[in-house]
Amino acid sequence: MPNFEKLNNPTEGELISFKDGKPIVPNNPIVPFIRGDGTGVDIWPATQLVIDAAIKYTYGTKRKINWFKVYAGDEACDKYGTYNYLPNDTIEAIKHFGVAIKGPLTTPVGGGIRSLNVALRQIFDLYSCVRPCKYYTGTPSPHKSPQDLDIIVYRENTEDIYMGIEWEAEDENCIHLINYLNDTIIPNSPKLKNRALPKSAGIGIKPVSKYGSQRHIRKAIEHAKKLSGDKRHVTLVHKGNIMKFTEGAFRDWGYELAINEFRNDCITERESWILDNVENKNEISIENNARLIEPGFDKLTQSKKESICEEIKNVLLKISESHGNNQWKKLVLVDDRIADSIFQQIQTRPQEYSILATLNLNGDYLSDAAAAIVGGLGMAPGANIGDKAAIFEATHGTAPKHAGLNKINPGSVILSGVMMLEYFGWNEAANVITKGLSKSIEKKLVTYDLARLMEPNVDPLSCSEFAESIIDNF
Ligand code: NAP
Repeated sequence: MPNFEKLNNPTEGELISFKDGKPIVPNNPIVPFIRGDGTGVDIWPATQLVIDAAIKYTYGTKRKINWFKVYAGDEACDKYGTYNYLPNDTIEAIKHFGVAIKGPLTTPVGGGIRSLNVALRQIFDLYSCVRPCKYYTGTPSPHKSPQDLDIIVYRENTEDIYMGIEWEAEDENCIHLINYLNDTIIPNSPKLKNRALPKSAGIGIKPVSKYGSQRHIRKAIEHAKKLSGDKRHVTLVHKGNIMKFTEGAFRDWGYELAINEFRNDCITERESWILDNVENKNEISIENNARLIEPGFDKLTQSKKESICEEIKNVLLKISESHGNNQWKKLVLVDDRIADSIFQQIQTRPQEYSILATLNLNGDYLSDAAAAIVGGLGMAPGANIGDKAAIFEATHGTAPKHAGLNKINPGSVILSGVMMLEYFGWNEAANVITKGLSKSIEKKLVTYDLARLMEPNVDPLSCSEFAESIIDNF
């Protein structure tokens, strides 16, 4: 147990441990919680009430969460001193107990203070941000068929522009870097020809590594393996047509992982096409078959033609036996889509998608766009998951103007609690909450944000009344 400066060690409950990146959860785990700033004062008590009630309703006295209050944000400054937004006690507690849940935290503007949310993700190497977007019947939505969307965005959390490595225009180091790139690196990179960066540009770096991409995509595939039917599907979302060595590499490393590490569980879209369409598997006229899958095959270089032929041969020889005759449909399908097209497709063909694995910036935009379709931020949960820790949180912020009014929608943190229960393997309790939430919404027993969008308008419940209504509808 850590030596806390200002926290009293919990007297009841047991530790969650981790093995191979997965949690081993006792029946009475200790779970640190951060209440959160702003509307956290309203949302957290409502959330705790619902989670505790669901566990009691489902498991009686057999299971119980022992909540352990830790501090971050404004509350931490009150307890630990000015500007101590993320005390060491909190970091040590999460490190020790492994799984935490939090309300929203203010990002102080200026003063050189980094986002606390980003800091927590980086300190604990929570490399996958998981954001499910699913429709609950009755939720007002701007979309005609929001029920068709049921996706989970896997957003990489530690690389890409999230690393925040950038230099302001005119800064001395920025000018130095631009000169070095223009004078040395670009002339030595034949493919870049005689391009040059504008002298007055600001510069940001977008690092994407094979290690970082694959550990993230691995989590997405592991998740898809637990789903059933068409939902066993991972789409690698990227902008590889433009950013070949970062976004494009993310896609390639994803396919490589699927084929090498998950050979018995995954099939790529291209492989499934070959199995379904390339005939005459024993006497393969490879060139003819390759022509089928590669438009413009005749114009390709000889080595590219050979690699396509080799690919077809490999698929037919290696996996047609076990995965032919539609057997591949039992596997996790791995395909890829360009980022801009997926924004269209989650609106026009949402039922075709399940897990979208992507880099940081794409995932940020995509998860908010998807949340809007199913009812907005008040219903959008999230989890940040690593190999030795996980933090569950709402996707929205502190909404300061609504703070302390017992008015705001606690749905997002409650649904983050549902994700936490699923992470524990306590699916029965998780299902009880989603059932209660769905029924409450169907009966139009909702907070102001949803009530004002319902037609005709309904009288809103308060934050705490909404929590009670969820429990009444278990
Ligand atoms: P925000 O707190 O998300 O609030 C913007 C608006 O979204 C609110 O005014 C409200 O709209 C709606 N909203 C937010 N939470 C809601 C909920 N639970 N139920 C229903 N509607 C909800 O965004 P912000 O005002 O830009 O950010 C405020 C602070 O939060 C900033 O310091 C920011 O850095 C921080 N932040 C923290 C996190 C985090 O902790 N993960 C995430 C994002 C932002 P109406 O007023 O129209 O009803």
